[in-house]
Amino acid sequence: MRGPWKILIWLLAGALLGALLQSWHGMPPSSPLALEDAARVEGTTTAPGVRVAAAPARSRIAPGDVVHALVLERGLPTERRWPTPDVASYRAGIANARCGALVWHELARGALEPIALELDPRSSLATWIAPFAFVADLFLVLLKMLIVPIVLSSIIVGVIGVGTTASLKRLGLRTLAYYTATSALAIAIGLTLVNLIQPGRGAALGLPPSQRFAEVAQTSFAEVLLRIVPSNVFAALSDNASMLQVIFFALFFGICAMQVEAHHRETLQRFFTATFEVMMRLAGTLLRLIPYGIFCLLVKIVGTTGFAVFEPLAWYLVTVTAGILIHAAGVLPLLLRWIGRIRPAAYAKAVSPALVTAFSTSSSSLTLPVALEVVEKRGGVSNRVVSFVQPLGATVNMDGTALYECVGVIFLAQYYASIGGFELGLSTQLLVAYMALAASIGAAGIPYAGFVMMVMILSALRLPVEGAALLLVVDRPIDMLRTTTNIWSDCCGAAIIARFEGERPTGSI
Ligand code: ASP
Repeated sequence: MRGPWKILIWLLAGALLGALLQSWHGMPPSSPLALEDAARVEGTTTAPGVRVAAAPARSRIAPGDVVHALVLERGLPTERRWPTPDVASYRAGIANARCGALVWHELARGALEPIALELDPRSSLATWIAPFAFVADLFLVLLKMLIVPIVLSSIIVGVIGVGTTASLKRLGLRTLAYYTATSALAIAIGLTLVNLIQPGRGAALGLPPSQRFAEVAQTSFAEVLLRIVPSNVFAALSDNASMLQVIFFALFFGICAMQVEAHHRETLQRFFTATFEVMMRLAGTLLRLIPYGIFCLLVKIVGTTGFAVFEPLAWYLVTVTAGILIHAAGVLPLLLRWIGRIRPAAYAKAVSPALVTAFSTSSSSLTLPVALEVVEKRGGVSNRVVSFVQPLGATVNMDGTALYECVGVIFLAQYYASIGGFELGLSTQLLVAYMALAASIGAAGIPYAGFVMMVMILSALRLPVEGAALLLVVDRPIDMLRTTTNIWSDCCGAAIIARFEGERPTGSI
């Protein structure tokens, strides 16, 4: 069994096992007591999106919930009650007699941080979940291992690739202009929708707050710009959180590499292409493990927090899908019509085999041979244009991926901002847009490549990658949509550029 079905089955199996583990060991029971206590202490108690007074129906707190209040240990001597100034730390916890999930958080005095409730590692449920959580964590660590070398080599290869075809310079510039413009449009759509719909605000994701992100989100634009430039390239390369700097260096390096003498440029191109190929092999091996990674992630997530965590993801899915539809069925056809003077429906019908292949394989690279064939034979674009635009587009031009990165990262950032009680500033959003563009250039044309890039953006923003793990669970259907959009944009690009070169692709008016 292959592709989406295999993943779906492992996904369902993981959810089922997680649910079974929970019911064997008993769901962490409701804890109205703790909510009341917390309300007394802080005045309001929020499990994500819930206020005690406003939502009396919410009578339980479960592991994974984030509470903005201390829950005092019963029976503490009064003098240790919060907020007595002479106590250095407080113990906050939710008593859960039934499955023994009792978690105590030592909190520094005065630091009323939101806390995420966890399963007690000694409880029997946690013991059962531990091996799955271990594999899930291992999987994420392996993904992180790939980030720096993949980003560095793929961006350099992408940039040098544009410049080396000297005879095709004009074509190259037009192609580049098209790629940048459509990806920027996709990102703008993503940004607009995610700000309108706000799927992440107050979502009950059950992820612990991130203090470091609060600092990042509040930095000014000037500081952000300064942070993009590395003072030491090798230090940047050795830190996943310095990805902005790695991208900056890779872009700069690629652009300058285009300008050195041909034999140097070719050496560099060969070296980085070879490195990239090896990295792709590594990634390919790892990505083959994705079904099992997803299985373990689901056992961990459903086993710990139940199914409630998937509800807020529905809005995330709606936002990404709406964005992709607007771009693929609205913006790109309009560009075809207005700039290329080509009838979109006729052209889409001509290249449809490529779109169907993209949808079913979730891989631009695998779709490339089909796309080359149909855009030339059925789409009526010359071999000269097709053989330049399509292969480059399959790795560099990824509108769907750019949009998805933007929505996914801002969705998580909104969540962290709302539980941390701060706003997501414009500079953070622009930073995400810039990184989404770079990620779409850097992402390889294989399934889940966009997801790997999302891990990279999250670590650059100092957001915990656990958020990405949550999104991974629903990533496959989105990958199918975004890959189709990626290929559709390449096909539209080929036709529009062909038109500028004086050709008449299928559907020309
Ligand atoms: N699967 C996508 C592609 O091949 C890349 C991504 O994961 O976004 O185009």
